[in-house]
Amino acid sequence: MPWCPKCKLEYRDGYDQCSDCGESLVDSIDGKGQKENEEKKFVLLMDINQREGEVIRSLLEAHGIEVRSQFNEAGAYLDIYMGGSVFGIKLFVKEGQLKEAKEILGSQVEKEEFGEYEEE
Ligand SMILES: [Zn+2]
Repeated sequence: MPWCPKCKLEYRDGYDQCSDCGESLVDSIDGKGQKENEEKKFVLLMDINQREGEVIRSLLEAHGIEVRSQFNEAGAYLDIYMGGSVFGIKLFVKEGQLKEAKEILGSQVEKEEFGEYEEE
């Protein structure tokens, strides 16, 4: 289906110009536009308690993964309203980096390089 790249309006086959802005219609805006969205979109990586969340966050950031947590995005209001971090935090990563993030975490879990401190 032809699309107007400016108005993001879909036209029926047979049109080649946008009736609103006069822009030439393109075959599809799905291709490039969608890829850009995926790169910007953040998806849930895991739901975890806050202390472990901080460990994982710094681990991923050390590998160049951009991490956002629920409380950073929702602000302090949610934190106060829900009575602190008893419910844990949600960690989000970019959709395009999700696989990489899971691989980093997977290899780290196998090596047991993070987690609870051992008490001596
Ligand atoms: Zn248009």
